[in-house]
Amino acid sequence: MNTLPKILLLYTGGTIGMINNPETGALMPFNFEHMASQVPELNKLGVELDAITFDPIIDSSDMRPSYWIQMAQIIYDNYSKYDGFVVLQGTDTMAYTASALSFILQDLSKPIVLTGSQLPIGTIRTDGKENLISSIEIAADKKDGKAIVPEVCVFFENQLFRGNRTTKHNAEYFYAFRSDNYPALAEAGIEIHYNTSALLPVSNSKQPLFYKEMDQSLAMLRLFPGITENVVNQICNIDGLKGLILQSYGAGNVMTDKWFTEVMQKTVSKGVYVLNVTQCRAGGVKMGKYESSKGLIDAGVWSGYDMSLEAALTKMMYVLGEKMNRTEAEACFKKSLSGEINTNLILTD
Ligand code: ASP
Repeated sequence: MNTLPKILLLYTGGTIGMINNPETGALMPFNFEHMASQVPELNKLGVELDAITFDPIIDSSDMRPSYWIQMAQIIYDNYSKYDGFVVLQGTDTMAYTASALSFILQDLSKPIVLTGSQLPIGTIRTDGKENLISSIEIAADKKDGKAIVPEVCVFFENQLFRGNRTTKHNAEYFYAFRSDNYPALAEAGIEIHYNTSALLPVSNSKQPLFYKEMDQSLAMLRLFPGITENVVNQICNIDGLKGLILQSYGAGNVMTDKWFTEVMQKTVSKGVYVLNVTQCRAGGVKMGKYESSKGLIDAGVWSGYDMSLEAALTKMMYVLGEKMNRTEAEACFKKSLSGEINTNLILTD
């Protein structure tokens, strides 16, 4: 009987999937359906590997919510047939994809590991092989017959991160991602060491919950010293706006100008959901800590706590897509769905 773990690899595009055309020397997409002949190490992994190439293959700068749903549908349709999933995509928007997938597919019992590389898999110094091989190992790893990492995560340069906690922070070096507000889920050395207390529990459900609607009627307002009333007004009055991610300073602070508080009040009273996240990479929003954020509480702006910008944006798309009313949306932003918020911050709010 064949008891090898079965892994499905989904190649969506990006640098990792490139090799040099032996005739022209130019980079061209790699055929993942024949990957074992190009990455022979895969034969020694002790897993049964199938691959699907996304249609279309994209540079991740072209990523959009409909592609996230398409990826999730492939995983959902194949969920019972595989032990784990590895998604290859470009690094540029990987943190957004990982965050989005963690809200689109909830209640997981199997790993969904995203990875990519800074150098094409067909080049000599590539980081792609290492990332691919370790991601497959992680997707296949089990303890007592259950997946060790039942989450959407990102593997890069020896570290496994919770997907909705990641941000791309380096466009040059191999350590492209950071997760400043949550510890790494695993470190790959000679062996893979799991940070078991940091992992989400394994769901008992046979299929994940699949939320297929992501509403894009949202905007982002990043404050900067000198931002004018006109700019803030234009953004808050965009036609059809339903959600606004306010990127504030430090622990959630904004300028105390009367006009700003008034615009926020008007925006909320029009029915727009406004979520406050910090521009800082680490730490989170603590509204009311300083005078300058008290006005936001009165205006009905919600705290994004320590959520990353990528998680806040995609959670807002999910909340709007689910057509939650104000009370439901507020309750949803006050809880962690897939580990995107430190719940102690909510309790001490
Ligand atoms: N522009 C590429 C992409 O994100 C970069 C990469 O593959 O990492 O698709």
